[in-house]
Amino acid sequence: MSNIQDKVVIIMGASSGIGEATTKKLAQEGAKLVIAARREDRLKALIESLPNTDISFMVADVTNKDEVEAVVDLAIEKHGRVDVLFNNTGIMPQSLLSDLKIDEWRQMLDINVMGVLNGIAAVLPIMQKQKSGHIVTTASEAGHVVFQQGAVYSGTKFAVRAIMETLRQEERNNQIRSTLISPGTVNTELHLTISDSERREWIENLQQEIGLQSSDVADAVAYAIGTPKSVNIGEILMVPATPM
Ligand code: NDP
Repeated sequence: MSNIQDKVVIIMGASSGIGEATTKKLAQEGAKLVIAARREDRLKALIESLPNTDISFMVADVTNKDEVEAVVDLAIEKHGRVDVLFNNTGIMPQSLLSDLKIDEWRQMLDINVMGVLNGIAAVLPIMQKQKSGHIVTTASEAGHVVFQQGAVYSGTKFAVRAIMETLRQEERNNQIRSTLISPGTVNTELHLTISDSERREWIENLQQEIGLQSSDVADAVAYAIGTPKSVNIGEILMVPATPM
C-alpha cells in the first residue's frame, strides 16, 4: 500500500495546471481529496473525470479567510482529520515596476502570500491537535532568483519560502511537516494572469516550448507526501532540462 493511500488531502488551486494534475495523481494513489478554487465548472469537470475517487469540492477564494476555513471544515466533516494541505494557488501578472500596476501587486500579495497564510491558519490548530500533518506549498524557481518584470512575483515566492521554512522549524515537535515545491517554467494557464499581451505571449511560448509538464510537478508533490513521517522534504527545486 502506498503511503498516500487514504490520506486526507486538501488541494487549493485545483481547477487547472499543477493543482489539477496533482488531484489526478493523488486520486490514482488512493488519497481522500477535498479540492477548491474559484472556477466551479472546472472543479466539477475534474471530479467527473475521476470516477471511483473519494473527492469533494468547494468553491473558495483563498484571499477570503472564511472561505478557506469552510474548505477545511468540509474535510473535517467528511473525514475527521486533515493529513495534507497543498497550498498551490498563485497568479503571476508580471510587469515592470515602472508600469506601476499597483492593483496587480496587491492582488499578487493577497493570493500568493495571504492565500498561503490563510491556508496555514485554517489547518494549523487541527494539525497541532492531531500531532501530525503536512503542509505543502508551491513556491517557484522565482523564489530563488529575480528577473525583470518579476519583482513582485518573486517577492511573493521569496516570502513563501521564508514562511514555510519557519513553519518547519516551529512545528517540528508537533510532527507537522513543511514542504516547498519550487518549479521553473511549467506549461500551464499561469500566463493568462499577465495583463500585458506582448509579455503574456512571450511567457506562453516559453511555457509551451521548454516548460515542465504539470504532471512532472504532481509527481514531485506525491513523492514529498509519500515519504515516511520521519522524513521532511524541505524543498524540491525542479527546472526544465529541455534545450532552449
Ligand atoms: P494555473 O493558472 O493553471 O493555476 C492556478 C490555480 O490557482 C488555479 O486553480 C486557480 O483557480 C487558482 N487560483 C488563483 N487565484 C485564486 C484565488 N484567489 N482563490 C482560489 N484559487 C485561486 O497555474 P499553475 O498551475 O502554473 O500555478 C500553480 C502554482 O504554481 C502557482 O502558485 C504558481 O505561482 C506556481 N508556479 C507556476 C509555474 C509555471 O511556470 N506555471 C512555475 C513556478 C511556480 P481559479 O482561477 O479557478 O480560482
